[in-house]
Amino acid sequence: MTLTTLEKSATPISATPCKASTMKALVYQAVGKKALTDHPKPEITAPTDAIVRVTKTTICGTDLHILKGDLPSCAPGRVLGHEGVGIVDQVGSAVTVFKPGDHVLISCVSACGKCVYCRKQMYSHCTTGGWILGNTIDGTQAEFVRIPHADMSLYPIPAGADEEALVMLSDILPTSFECGVLNGKVEPGSIVAIVGAGPIGLAALLTAQLYAPAEIIMIDLDDNRLEVAKRFGATSTVNSTDDKAADAIMKMTANRGVDTAIEAVGIPATFELCEKIVTAGGHIANIGVHGKKVDLHLEKLWDRNISITTRLVDTATIPMLFKTVSSNKIDPKLLITHRFKLDKILDAYEAFGNAAKTKALKVIIET
Ligand SMILES: [Zn+2]
Ligand SMILES: [Zn+2]
Repeated sequence: MTLTTLEKSATPISATPCKASTMKALVYQAVGKKALTDHPKPEITAPTDAIVRVTKTTICGTDLHILKGDLPSCAPGRVLGHEGVGIVDQVGSAVTVFKPGDHVLISCVSACGKCVYCRKQMYSHCTTGGWILGNTIDGTQAEFVRIPHADMSLYPIPAGADEEALVMLSDILPTSFECGVLNGKVEPGSIVAIVGAGPIGLAALLTAQLYAPAEIIMIDLDDNRLEVAKRFGATSTVNSTDDKAADAIMKMTANRGVDTAIEAVGIPATFELCEKIVTAGGHIANIGVHGKKVDLHLEKLWDRNISITTRLVDTATIPMLFKTVSSNKIDPKLLITHRFKLDKILDAYEAFGNAAKTKALKVIIET
């Protein structure tokens, strides 16, 4: 009895030391500088928050953009990462859908569900959310993460689901599907060109096939990635190193061009290539994050009946993609090439950042 009482009274004291309030996290320190350091463990700051113990996360091309200094919204001191799966550790008093112990998928976009944009399912522009994780608030490349608006920003994972495959649903699958395939109006029998065979372009290739286009042409500078694209279902590939990609694609399409041109790189040359190859009445769907201005050739396009779309992923299609993955209609695990433990995350960045050499697509980081 006495011993039990003593143990009980001792618990709060032994639970508070600094060990319990810090965690390992990958922190953006300055342009070009990052470190795996001890970082304060996140706490519930609003009743709608949840704290999630991250079990698996990954690195996105956007994280590399942040490290280059391309995204000033992300300040030094920030824990990076906006993708992952985990176990709910704590919930705020207003969280009703989730409880501690629940297995969850983290959306890269946080949504209140109530504001004018959320009401249109444009969660990316939520007035108190949007893409804030690993941007304006601490992210998922850590042992724990605080998820605001938890009820709308987490998705339950059913027992037996493949965690690694689901990490691809936090960002790259919905991004490529919403910004590329849906905005690009891919339809049965259409001709699609995807410029850029990185993880996002390849994810667009996987999800475009849900609509049975007649042809999917992949364009990239890297023959290895084009080989991968063929295995993923590309009907043809074009290496654009010689600057003649537009001519090659026009030749392949009897000088018609493509119905949908998906831009999945984010530089002027690749967007302008889309302008050159889109057919009359076609669609240019931009996915790439652009840091530089791009010329819009209206002198050539003004009478072509085309549409150009831009979008930040809303992740509104996560539940639908979840079902296509669970029923093996698409296999996003094909995108995973490397696996690391959190304490080796700097090696993971090295592999991901030197993809031409390492042939990395997506890397899984296990905490
Ligand atoms: Zn991302
Ligand atoms: Zn909102």
